[in-house]
Amino acid sequence: MVDFETPVLKQYPIIPLIQPGVMAHIKPYVAKPEIQEKIGFPGELVENWQEVAIKKMGELVSKSRALQVFLDSCVKCGACTDKCHYFLGTADPKNMPVARQDLFRDVYRRYFTFAGKYFPKLVGAKEMDKEMLDDWYSYFHQCSQCRRCTVYCPFGIDTAEISMAAREILDSIGVGQKYCNEIIGKAQTIGNNLGLPEPALLDTLEGLEEDIEEETGVVVRLPLDQKNADILLVTPSADFFAEPHVDGLIGYAKVFHAAGLSWTLSSHASEAANFGMFIGSYENMQKLTMRIRDAALELGVKRIVFGECGHAWRVAYNFLNTLAGPFDFLDPNYPMPQHICEVTYDLIQRNLLTLDKSANDDKVITFHDSCNIARGSRMGDMVGGQFIIPRAIIKACCNHFYDMADDTIKEATFCCGGGGGLLTDDLLELRVKGALPRMEALKQVVDDYGVTHMVAICAICKSQFSKILPYYGFEMDQVITLHQLVGNALVLDEGTSNSN
Ligand code: SF4
Ligand code: SF4
Repeated sequence: MVDFETPVLKQYPIIPLIQPGVMAHIKPYVAKPEIQEKIGFPGELVENWQEVAIKKMGELVSKSRALQVFLDSCVKCGACTDKCHYFLGTADPKNMPVARQDLFRDVYRRYFTFAGKYFPKLVGAKEMDKEMLDDWYSYFHQCSQCRRCTVYCPFGIDTAEISMAAREILDSIGVGQKYCNEIIGKAQTIGNNLGLPEPALLDTLEGLEEDIEEETGVVVRLPLDQKNADILLVTPSADFFAEPHVDGLIGYAKVFHAAGLSWTLSSHASEAANFGMFIGSYENMQKLTMRIRDAALELGVKRIVFGECGHAWRVAYNFLNTLAGPFDFLDPNYPMPQHICEVTYDLIQRNLLTLDKSANDDKVITFHDSCNIARGSRMGDMVGGQFIIPRAIIKACCNHFYDMADDTIKEATFCCGGGGGLLTDDLLELRVKGALPRMEALKQVVDDYGVTHMVAICAICKSQFSKILPYYGFEMDQVITLHQLVGNALVLDEGTSNSN
């Protein structure tokens, strides 16, 4: 057990009194040289690191007009200060979004503005020195890039973009984060974050088919590398084995089966997650997206559907077409990409699924909006579809649903505490403390409505909650996947098996 105190759940959220430096000791493990070099970065801190860091900062600022505007336009109004879950959970003032941004902004001012170059003290400009480097490594790894602060900033300043740029600069001088960079390397060479090779994947899928048949008496297939299937499903690799994720994968398979849709997974593109985004590296993000394009071409599919994963959907929704497109070889009658929730919602709307809500009567459900879906992407052909669609699916599959407090859901949702490449045990203290606002909102609906389970549609949220729920007195299995509810409620018919 790591030595720290779990915050006490309060009835109403309280803005903490600041405790300067209280989280300065929190840093993820630094990536070893072989991990760094594998994905194109220097193995260790380069000798002239200040010079390289400033040069990289100049490149990023000149390439991204948005980044420059974010750095130039903060008026220190303070509206964002109490909006970050990591500040609310830790009380460290450097976890206030504006203070986190200022770690970058102060250096930017020193080297890239007239006033900062000639009158640094007057404008609070600072050198990129060792002390600053340490602060960067700590506090840019205490931002889950969730963008909650951005919603409340009158200028829409996006701290996530600043945090990604900072991590890219850190990588460029040879100080990368072990967890993210190791995973990116595995996904690029083996096809998934876990390094799960094709035979092991095949074994896992066959085992799941047996489990479904045992449970339902119906043969439901989970095909791998099935040429000429209509749909390529790209899902986070956690869906292949982790709990509760795997119940979601079973749910998707049941949906495809019940609707008679032809589908396949790919051993080449067996990962929807794309940690390239967390380190701000478009080059690495693109390498991973190209595997999906290659698999779609090789298998001759007509559609690409993504499983439940928050940041993966953000990358797919925002970048897949530009990084790996054009996808003009797919069927233009379907959105590209499409989310599994959009597929299921459409089938429900068209009365193509038979659902027995009473199958979930042992549960009282609430829903956790995942940041990257809520604030980084959309679903469906309607404003707010990313909020409407998951809730409509839940309500079609169960009788008891209650939302958490308004200022903790939809655009205002709180991060689970483990997003943005922070889902690693070396950051456990941060993860537990950062989950405080979500746990307080959960406790409220547990007390008021007897909520028993929280549904999530993100692989990271599911893993994070499974780990930290017990710290707050809940059970680890109180987080479940949306398609588990769907799978439970679906009435399967032998005759609707897909053609694969
Ligand atoms: S993006 Fe999220 S984690 Fe980062 S500073 Fe803003 S609220 Fe905090
Ligand atoms: S809300 Fe926006 S403008 Fe105000 S302090 Fe925060 S980042 Fe700056």
